[in-house]
Amino acid sequence: MGNAVRTTCAYCGVGCGISAAPTGPRAVTIKGDEAHPANAGRLCSKGTHLGETVGLTGRLLHPMIGNRRASWDKALDLVARRFAETIERYGPDSVAFYVSGQLLTEDYYVANKLMKGFIGSANIDTNSRLCMSSAVAGHNRAFGEDIVPATYADLDEADLVILVGSNTAWCHPIVYQRIQAARAARGTKLVVIDPRRTETCEGADLHLPVRPGTDVALMNGLLAWMDAKGLTDAAYLADHVAAPDDFWGHIRAGHDLWTTAKTCDLPPASLQQFFELFAATPRTVTLFSQGINQSIRGTDQVNAILNLHLATGRIGKPGAAPFSITGQPNAMGGREVGGLASTLAAHMDFAPENVARVGRFWAAPAMATKPGLKAVDLFRAIGEGRVKALWVMATNPAVSLPDAGRVRDALAACPFVVMSDVITDTDTGAHAHVRLPAAAWGEKDGTVTNSDRTISRQRPFMAPPGEAKPDWWIVTQVARRMGWQGAFAYDRPADIWREHARLTAYQNDGKRLLDLRSHATIGNNAYDAMEPFRWGGAHPFADGGFSTPDRKARLVTVRQMDVQAPLRDWPMTLNTGRYRDQWHTMTRTGLSPKLARHREEPLVEIHPADAQALGIADGDLARISTPQGDSIFRAALNEGQRRGDIFTPIHWTDQISSGGRTGLLPRPLTDPHSGQPGFKSTPAAVQKV
Ligand code: SF4
Repeated sequence: MGNAVRTTCAYCGVGCGISAAPTGPRAVTIKGDEAHPANAGRLCSKGTHLGETVGLTGRLLHPMIGNRRASWDKALDLVARRFAETIERYGPDSVAFYVSGQLLTEDYYVANKLMKGFIGSANIDTNSRLCMSSAVAGHNRAFGEDIVPATYADLDEADLVILVGSNTAWCHPIVYQRIQAARAARGTKLVVIDPRRTETCEGADLHLPVRPGTDVALMNGLLAWMDAKGLTDAAYLADHVAAPDDFWGHIRAGHDLWTTAKTCDLPPASLQQFFELFAATPRTVTLFSQGINQSIRGTDQVNAILNLHLATGRIGKPGAAPFSITGQPNAMGGREVGGLASTLAAHMDFAPENVARVGRFWAAPAMATKPGLKAVDLFRAIGEGRVKALWVMATNPAVSLPDAGRVRDALAACPFVVMSDVITDTDTGAHAHVRLPAAAWGEKDGTVTNSDRTISRQRPFMAPPGEAKPDWWIVTQVARRMGWQGAFAYDRPADIWREHARLTAYQNDGKRLLDLRSHATIGNNAYDAMEPFRWGGAHPFADGGFSTPDRKARLVTVRQMDVQAPLRDWPMTLNTGRYRDQWHTMTRTGLSPKLARHREEPLVEIHPADAQALGIADGDLARISTPQGDSIFRAALNEGQRRGDIFTPIHWTDQISSGGRTGLLPRPLTDPHSGQPGFKSTPAAVQKV
């Protein structure tokens, strides 16, 4: 057995530390890293079975042009030439990158630099747009910077944990175990707000099966109740928070408990119990996830939660915080380097002074001056022929974006598509003109940031197979071939890390909490040995100062939109999400026989009474249709579903099965602030097959 290497899990934003001991050329024993602050040695089923996924099944081993193997030189020359020709002919906004929360921070940094500083467009967006961009927009509105003001240790110190729109037991299992440990140790109360009764609700003190899409009303109702009882924090509000003129008038009108209960379709007694529990428990963490973010009103839902914490002073102290928990292993690192079309770099937006500052730092020949196309708009622009060259890195939009059938059509019509990935055959790769073999987890070297701002190293313990190369190397090779040799002359990930660290501090002057200046001159050996560390401190707003010009946080007036009544032809509401033991489009977890045992096929979960009305029995096949498309699933009757709601998993692809294609079904509608698609409530019809 080789020496164990300390690295970080390939999957979710909990960011668990792993000890990986190679036992053969493509074999490894996996254990939890007891010294890592995120997990202290614990791993969930996905992390535990990572060793089953490091074989070469399905790996892309060589550059491919069409279906022919090509040399790296030939493939890279072609990518650089086609991007340069497209930019020359149609301008910088005619090209785009669509990247991934699976990339390491160093990969993300160079892709962002190439697009925003050298190509001169901000058309680089990421699959993290689908996951947490509403939280980013909400944080920016409230705090003046995209800061998650919580850490996992706050869960140990809270007396009340509220989980909103999060099946934490399945999607962030180690966080859930931590909450359960706190409950056992100190009697922490647990409230789950979720339309579905999931495993997370087992043993909760209270489950509120809220009507989908009414979280703003619920949070506004709670704030109105606290205000009416004089339980807001007047001193904190006066010293540290600014509110628009209409804020309190809006909260005080129409948010009484009875109206809230009716809007949210909840028993008034349950609501009263929740409100009283909140009022009695200053140490409250509200943890929220995709049920909040993946909505066409996601940013308002985020701000409704942040309003509540700001107005009651439940922020900046141990055990009291709003806590956005991210899905992917490095969605947070992508945010930090600016790898979203709507942000520039190092938590800066596109204000002219920021464009000038980043341009100076990069000595950029062509700075992007405005935000680029966000994911759904980007693929619409490809379909309409406005974007003519696309590079997809480490993600599978032909499966994962809403209205995936249109995405597939757009990819098929795009004049030039590049894919860099670890997998040979993906639904997206089927449309790629060039496929570039990327190094995978266990082969890659760099950093990731987890949900509580802890930066950890991903370290290699195997050589990349075939001709696979790290993503940062692939991007910089293309950049050099486009004429920018000096600006992309990195020899190793540590070179990129130091530059990123310098940029976070460059003329920052304390304006942004993201400041990694202590790493700006870190040596290669120190980078290799880097221990997990958190930027921004345990409680970033402990001194009551926020990242706004006047250092005050902002309450945001958020209004509950009307909830759509069931439509005649589409009487059901489709909700989508993850299974406990699968990840994204199953390119890695699908390799593990043990993980497949949890759910062997994609199911549509439906309330027994709805199923009976439709003539559907448990185990029957059912066709789920929406205006966007249809797909067949096996029915699973589940009393934890609300009447009228159905749930399907996101993981299955054309490569795996002919049915269960959830991505074909959701509407391509997005939140107006964040651009995040609303995956959680699509009008749908169900028919027995
Ligand atoms: Fe990996 Fe997330 Fe499981 Fe931790 S909780 S082992 S990071 S999948």
